[in-house]
Amino acid sequence: MNIHEYQAKAILKEYGAPVSRGIPVFTAEEAEKAAHELGGPVWVVKSQIHAGGRGKGKFKELGAEAKGGVRVVKSVEDVKSSAAEMLGNTLVTEQTGEGGKQVNRLYIEEGAAIEKEFYLSMLIDRETSRVAFVVSTEGGMNIEEVAHDTPEKIITFSVDPATGVQPHHGRTVARALNLSGDLAKQAGALVNQLYAAFTDKDMALLEINPLVVTKDNELKVLDAKVSFDSNSIYRHADVAALRDETEEDAKEIEASKYDLNYIALDGSIGCMVNGAGLAMATMDIIKQYGMEPANFLDVGGGATTEKVTAAFKIITADPVVKGILVNIFGGIMKCDVIAQGVIQAVKDVGLQVPLVVRLEGTNVEAGKKLIGESGLNVIAADDLDDAAQKIVKAVKEAA
Ligand code: ADP
Ligand code: MG
Repeated sequence: MNIHEYQAKAILKEYGAPVSRGIPVFTAEEAEKAAHELGGPVWVVKSQIHAGGRGKGKFKELGAEAKGGVRVVKSVEDVKSSAAEMLGNTLVTEQTGEGGKQVNRLYIEEGAAIEKEFYLSMLIDRETSRVAFVVSTEGGMNIEEVAHDTPEKIITFSVDPATGVQPHHGRTVARALNLSGDLAKQAGALVNQLYAAFTDKDMALLEINPLVVTKDNELKVLDAKVSFDSNSIYRHADVAALRDETEEDAKEIEASKYDLNYIALDGSIGCMVNGAGLAMATMDIIKQYGMEPANFLDVGGGATTEKVTAAFKIITADPVVKGILVNIFGGIMKCDVIAQGVIQAVKDVGLQVPLVVRLEGTNVEAGKKLIGESGLNVIAADDLDDAAQKIVKAVKEAA
């Protein structure tokens, strides 16, 4: 689960990390009020969306000359007019995709006098099963590019969970960033604060880009991106409360209510499959026959008719779906349960697109019989290959 920059900074502040003063706002009037409260003389108006690259982003509705989604301004009037311009408009950045994201909240922040920009992130390293730090002097830039062009400028290390973070970790970060004296001390303190926040809150990723040194020789967290391990949210009510559903795919929210493993994709063939491996194979074979899947969906092993119905409705309600492929290999999952779910969903919401069903395994005869007697317009398939060919053909013919 992702959160906004201002929420991430509020958490880091609880742990004592140095962040600038700032106020989240929803309207231009609130932005003006916040600007007065912060006092200036420099303010930064920051779009709050769940995507990076906002500074270099462009607003769809504004001209090419318009400024980006992070603006440094020098008067209260400019705070207000920038806020009015950004709110409600769609910001397109390197990370949002072409569609962009609508800006509904802003963070009005005190401007910092930047001397240097660094990069610091933390994540779970699955190879070592530890929390890893990634540090670079090349901040404010696209870190993937730095990693590609000048990998020697990226320093990584991980922390042994048995000992937790140690003073030498702080010194490693200071050395990597060429910091000495008081700034090295600040780096040491920051490493402790970030590690405590990361582990206490079950973060999966914490990215600070940039971490800056100000002209007053202070280390400051100027941008913060935080993702939490979704499996841990149940034990952090404070984190759960930060969820902004407007940033998430409505279909994925609906799917999460039924505990379905669902991810929306860009293609046109909706897939309902049991088992993550079979779902991946189904997506691959659709691509092999020249079309793209509209989603990843694993209904799981012990799905009920209710769950299958919900899953099928999510797929049929999606306007980009031009055909549906149900591919079930019944082991724990029973084919008749799948059949009942599909029939129920079609009864409830109708079926506007071709549907190919391939059933195999437990109770397959009962499942096929149910579908056969339902009067549904179903194209039956014998195996995965046959099913993929049939749905691609049916979608092409319907087009
Ligand atoms: P994004 O990464 O989404 O573009 P950032 O928060 O990193 O957004 O902001 C982009 C750039 O704007 C930063 O690299 C920094 O140079 C500048 N910036 C951001 N916040 C401030 C601030 N409070 N004071 C001064 N400059 C800032
Ligand atoms: Mg940034």
